[in-house]
Amino acid sequence: MTNRVSRRKFLGTVAAGAAAAARPARMDAAPTVATGPNGTGLPALLGGPPVRTAPFPAWPIADGREEQALERVLDSGKWGRGLGEEVKRFERAYAALTGARHCLATANGSTALLTSLYALDVGAGDEVIVPPYTFVATVNAVLLRGALPIFVDTDIETFQIDARKIEAAITERTRAIVPVHLGGSAADLDVILPMGQRRGVPVLEDACQAHLGEWNGRKVGTLGKAGCFSFQASKNLNSGEGGAIVTDDPAFIEACYTFHNNSRTRATSGDNFSYRGPGGNFRLTEFQAAILQAQMTRLDAQSRTRETNAAYLSGLLKEIPGLTPARMYAGCTRNAYHLYMFRYDPAAFAGLPRSRFLEALKAEGVPAAGGYAPLNKEAFLEDTLTSRGFRRIYGEGAFADWRERSRCPQNDRLCAEAVWLGQTMLLGPRSDMDQIAEAARKVQAHAARLAQA
Ligand SMILES: *Cc1c(COP(=O)(O)O)cnc(C)c1O
Repeated sequence: MTNRVSRRKFLGTVAAGAAAAARPARMDAAPTVATGPNGTGLPALLGGPPVRTAPFPAWPIADGREEQALERVLDSGKWGRGLGEEVKRFERAYAALTGARHCLATANGSTALLTSLYALDVGAGDEVIVPPYTFVATVNAVLLRGALPIFVDTDIETFQIDARKIEAAITERTRAIVPVHLGGSAADLDVILPMGQRRGVPVLEDACQAHLGEWNGRKVGTLGKAGCFSFQASKNLNSGEGGAIVTDDPAFIEACYTFHNNSRTRATSGDNFSYRGPGGNFRLTEFQAAILQAQMTRLDAQSRTRETNAAYLSGLLKEIPGLTPARMYAGCTRNAYHLYMFRYDPAAFAGLPRSRFLEALKAEGVPAAGGYAPLNKEAFLEDTLTSRGFRRIYGEGAFADWRERSRCPQNDRLCAEAVWLGQTMLLGPRSDMDQIAEAARKVQAHAARLAQA
């Protein structure tokens, strides 16, 4: 008890100290309003005062709920899922939240994907359809199964896989389609699901960025054969690392359980040892599951805040020539907004390159990113697909053929035009959105000088 109290005090002191060290200048500074609504002040990059100096909301967000959750596990002495109840409780809660019948927690989103592809019987010699506009983990999961990722071009307006182009990429080797709900928006499931059904190819949803996202009122991740989530530190639901698979199919979830538990079934994970197929240890810990339950108490409210702010921000950015917020498909009834994404057209900014636009925004106190590079062109893919193992499986000429099939010109263009704002930037007050738009207007008003400087 004494130990615990002193630990809590210690943590409190450390946290207060860290906050004080990180924030004194920001707390003392009066809010800076450097320009009028038309962005007439000099850009910060040219020596003017920035639009904002206050930081955007910090992430992760934690309080006594997380502290209690961690202490609960610490004191129980049951730190792994084999002994405790926290992972099981989280799995029930996450299944209920998404409306899926079953949920399996995994070490991370990458292993959720790998495990699901195993359960779909994806293996060497198979093809899996993926978007090029995604985090590399989507593609790595396919490669780790010895399968060939086939890239289908992006719908530049929505940043999602172009669903109308998927069917032409299907061959007799296609074993799965993995649409990604990129940024928390949704891929066009009204096209993808019936087509997968018709062609007999299961759909695995990569919903790693789309917690609480919805398609026609149903949670994404629950519409295909299975859905995968990530709880990595940057994601909207966060336990540092973590992941989950949801599905309605009990046989599928048992195959996943066995694979993620070193090929041991639930029945045999006690004291006897018998194995089914390959596997690994991809289990979530009790600590992570406890943290996730605490984080889930805020998830819905945070998600609503992001949605409200994003809708307002879109209204502002649409008024700025050259900025085009990502469109949502009509079926996307709830966007999880892991990212706020828009396209930047330098022509409306006196030819100012995107990299310079991002620098100028950053100087105004608005950190934005350029997002992914074309994944289908990454050198590691050529290295992997021309490796000894892949050449044996697919033959010597396979790489040239693959490269020809995996051209994605729309995606190349999108990668050059995209701008991202991270999810935490949507968690503050509406005035933050006004300042984001103001920064963009200010950069536009001075774009010609910024392009020369
Ligand atoms: C984060 C992410 C993953 C991988 O999840 P991890 O938990 O980091 O392993 C997979 N796909 C997408 C689209 C992601 O954003």
